[in-house]
Amino acid sequence: MSSAGPVAQPDADPVTGPVMIVGGSVAGYTVASRLRQHGFTAPITLIDPEGLPYERPPLSKQLLLGETGPEDLALAGTSWFTEHEVELVHARVESLRLGPAGAEHTLTLDDGAELTAATVVLATGATPISLGIEVDDDAPSANDPSADPRVLTLRHRDDVTALRQILDAAHHTGRPARIAVVGAGVLGAELASSLTELGAEVVLFAGPGIPASALFGRRIAARLHAQHTDHGVHVFPEYAGSVRLHSSSNTKPSSDPTSTGVEVLTLSGAAVPADAVISAIGISPNTWLAEEGGLELADGIIVDADQRASHPDVFAVGDVARHEQAPRRTEHWQHAIDTATTAAAVIAEATPPSPGPEWFWSDRYGVHVEAIGSLRAAAADHPATGYTVVHREDPAHPEKLATFVLDDAGLLVGAASIDDPLAVRAARRIIQRGLVVDPDQLADPEVSYKALAR
Ligand SMILES: Cc1cc2nc3c(=O)[nH]c(=O)nc-3n(C[C@H](O)[C@H](O)[C@H](O)COP(=O)(O)OP(=O)(O)OC[C@H]3O[C@@H](n4cnc5c(N)ncnc54)[C@H](O)[C@@H]3O)c2cc1C
Repeated sequence: MSSAGPVAQPDADPVTGPVMIVGGSVAGYTVASRLRQHGFTAPITLIDPEGLPYERPPLSKQLLLGETGPEDLALAGTSWFTEHEVELVHARVESLRLGPAGAEHTLTLDDGAELTAATVVLATGATPISLGIEVDDDAPSANDPSADPRVLTLRHRDDVTALRQILDAAHHTGRPARIAVVGAGVLGAELASSLTELGAEVVLFAGPGIPASALFGRRIAARLHAQHTDHGVHVFPEYAGSVRLHSSSNTKPSSDPTSTGVEVLTLSGAAVPADAVISAIGISPNTWLAEEGGLELADGIIVDADQRASHPDVFAVGDVARHEQAPRRTEHWQHAIDTATTAAAVIAEATPPSPGPEWFWSDRYGVHVEAIGSLRAAAADHPATGYTVVHREDPAHPEKLATFVLDDAGLLVGAASIDDPLAVRAARRIIQRGLVVDPDQLADPEVSYKALAR
């Protein structure tokens, strides 16, 4: 952890100079659009090497499945930037020099150009964590194993193209591609689902236990995890330690699955062959610019409730930001929007909305899952001390399942559901209003959610 002292207090002077937003995905774009909605008139620049902003959640779902095209992911087209007088710069910010509070700050781009800002917003997101790679001397990528097309991650549009190429190459040989997915959290599970639907043979390295129990609660997580085997995925209850690359190329996978070019090595010493391996073992926040600027870091850029970092002219939003009191960073789409909305309101000197409970969704094997608040107390077979865990099951709709977690004061702190979004919508209202609800009524499918959230 680097430290630039405690999170600074807001400067009383209004922002009048240019706002430079580094990172033009959902968080960065939302800052720009909300600023203009607030009537903010100073120049705004959005800088991202990927160009026009686009949505990432469909990458592992609709885009991989071919249900949607890359153009459908756009958050805004060029006309939006013209109409709203937001300059879009296709570049990577290579360095950040922060002056004193209220002075000019300088960003250097990868083409050497320098931009100055009164306010800097860091919306640089995160990078997938890679697996360790061992390479045969004669493998094509011996000099740069991380560039080997058989070792993949999924964060960008191009990553989907690379994965589809592996599937297509195997298809031409008349056998399904064998893909190792490492990590069975939200992303790994979605990948296993989509790849299976595309006809791939999937080996999922899930580790021991039930993945995502702390996110969805044990009962829901167990039902979701069982879907993998039901859909023909080979679930390996072990962690993958590293990947070994052999000389055969992914473009011509062998028809013999035991002689494919990749082996996933488990911690217990097993070597599992595959055409390609995709790592879904987590992400790490892109904090190096912030580090260069001397900002306070701790697994993310530390921010206060206004999304202000430890320099009064710098804000951080989305996956890269971490609230100073939070036990961990949040890596969800709604959080990116909420933190961006707060930062924009503060920069524009408007009143920020009060943040709602954390919420996210996932889709796999044709089911829709949502969670709100914290399900951590429901992560084990028995509720954590002081909490009550309630499940709602409806014999008339066996596909649905909802879990609710109440604290010792009877207040709802979290809820998750499979194919029952109304449960989570009601939970949001109950949490936000601080309503005390009867656990028996929560569990009773005859009691409407509307009545409980009233
Ligand atoms: C495949 C996938 C599926 C997902 N599915 C879901 C889901 O179902 N539900 C859900 O709630 N969430 C989901 N998420 C998470 C959600 O997409 C993220 O929380 C969200 O994208 C975070 O937005 P962000 O703007 O903070 O960061 P990012 O989306 O990571 O964007 C950061 C941007 O910063 C740019 N950048 C980085 N460094 C620099 C630099 N130095 N200079 C200029 N630009 C820079 C990058 O190019 C990138 O465009 C999913 C994510 C992925 C990858």
